[in-house]
Amino acid sequence: MIERSEAPLAHPTLYGVAPGGAPLVFAGRCSQCNRIGFPRQTYGCEACGAHGEALTDVALPATGELISFAEVHRHHGTDIDTPFVMAEIRLDSGLLLRGTLAPQRADGLQIGARLCGTLVAGKPPGAALELRFAPEGV
Ligand SMILES: [Zn+2]
Repeated sequence: MIERSEAPLAHPTLYGVAPGGAPLVFAGRCSQCNRIGFPRQTYGCEACGAHGEALTDVALPATGELISFAEVHRHHGTDIDTPFVMAEIRLDSGLLLRGTLAPQRADGLQIGARLCGTLVAGKPPGAALELRFAPEGV
């Protein structure tokens, strides 16, 4: 589910939107060892040290599998209301990343569940769109 909005993306260097509307994760791939790194950077491959033209930008579908999660009840920031759920997600490309889930509670979540990216307005309402992940079909 993508909220149709003219709101800008909160972190346009980290994620974007495919022409069809699906969220994408922007990462970097090393042509020497094929490692995918996130966030993308130009300092060099974290695995083999290759740099320069060996690192290429890739846009990965924001779909994958729930690896682990934790429901957060105390948070000192003001950018998100508690409770919320932090998760490790293994994207279908193999990239493991941490992100926030769209559901605010962990009730019913299962390790291994299919997740898909969704863009939701941050706080306050109407703020820039943030990439979150939600169980498929929800
Ligand atoms: Zn490498």
